[in-house]
Formats: sequence, C-alpha cells, structure tokens
Amino acid sequence: MRLVLLGAPGSGKGTQAEKLSELLNIPTISTGAIIREHINGKTELGLKATGFIAEGQLVPDELIIDIVKDRLSKDDCKDGFILDGFPRTIPQAEAAEKLGLGIDKVLDIFVADEAIIDRLSGRRECRMCRTPFHTIYNPPAIPGVCDKCGGELIRRADDEPETIKKRLVVYHNETEPLEDFYRKRGILTVVEGRKKIEDTSRDVRVALGLE
Ligand code: AMP
Repeated sequence: MRLVLLGAPGSGKGTQAEKLSELLNIPTISTGAIIREHINGKTELGLKATGFIAEGQLVPDELIIDIVKDRLSKDDCKDGFILDGFPRTIPQAEAAEKLGLGIDKVLDIFVADEAIIDRLSGRRECRMCRTPFHTIYNPPAIPGVCDKCGGELIRRADDEPETIKKRLVVYHNETEPLEDFYRKRGILTVVEGRKKIEDTSRDVRVALGLE
C-alpha cells in the first residue's frame, strides 16, 4: 500500500502511522522527523530548515520534494510506504503525481483545533528512536523514559503553545486544500481522530479495508 496520512499537527498521524507500519510491514516516511535529524546533525539542509520550523512555518517545497524523492528511492519502500507529513501543500501533491509515486489511499485523521492544543502540549517523543508518547493519553511505563528503547522523552520545540497556534493556521491555509485535491481523485477517506488510540486504530484499519 502507498498511503498518505493527512491531519493537523497532533491529530495522531505519527501514532497511527507507527501501528500501520508494523501491521503492513512497510516503512513510515515522516518528513518532519527527517528534517529534525538534519537539524540535529547541523547539515546544510538542517540549517536552512531551522528558522522555518521554529516559526511554525512550512519548509520550502523544493527542499521537501528532494528529501522525499531520495528517501522513497531506498529499497525498503519498494513494497509500499506510509507518508506522514507529506504532501502538505498543493504544489507538493502535484510534484508527487509528477514523480509517479502512485499513491493509492489518503487517510485524513480529523481532530478539531481545541483538542489539538490540549494534545500537543502533552506530546513527547523519544530522543533516540522518535517513538511518540503523551503524558496523559499515551504515557510511558516510566515517566520520561521510552518504553521501546529506554531513550529520554523530550518535548519538541515547535510544540510550544504559540508555535502550535501558528502551525494550525498554516495547516488550514496550506494543507487542508489537499482534502479536496484527493477527494476529487476518489482516494480520500476521513476518520474521526478524537477517540482513544486503540479505537481510532480500529477505525483506521476498517477505513483502509484491513479489517
Ligand atoms: P511534523 O513532524 O510533521 O509536524 O513536521 C514538523 C515541521 O517540519 C513542520 O511544522 C514543517 O515546518 C516541517 N515539515 C514537515 N513536513 C513538511 C512538508 N511536507 N512540507 C513543508 N514543511 C514540512
């Protein structure tokens, strides 16, 4: 399956992507995670992206498209992939079509803005393996420690409340138009993302015809 996950920041895309990735045995490609690795490694791309991320803005399309092209050319993507955080603009979606990525399904996880702010302020991720957690809704067994690898759990710099508000504005302006883009192509499915993680996971599997 070649799947795109759409949804506001904090809608649960990363969490659902991880579950689907295990179930389908295909990789999740998170453009946000790749950019954060570049920022940590202080690469040229990382240096270019830092200011945009810190401001809650999108990184320019041409940088992102190169990242995705490079990552999808790797061997582990040949039987399918899950795109978490790409495309995020209409030009990116058009570029994906030009590249012939052959997206077969687009799943939109819908969560209203009020719930997003509450969710993102409790969000944590593992510094080492990037597994997502939430202090209330998806807590680790030991506070501050990753269940999977024992790494330290941290809060992302762009999950500060002021940046969250900016990211939501960007989402509504730049990314939401993709719903219509993919609806017109007959490959969009929407699930309600405000339920418990396991319930949303079941809705996701049903929506994708996996259950
Ligand atoms: P995420 O982890 O998906 O929430 O992404 C974190 C940040 O990375 C976003 O707020 C953007 O600044 C940047 N980013 C990730 N994916 C994209 C994309 N497809 N296009 C532009 N910027 C992106």
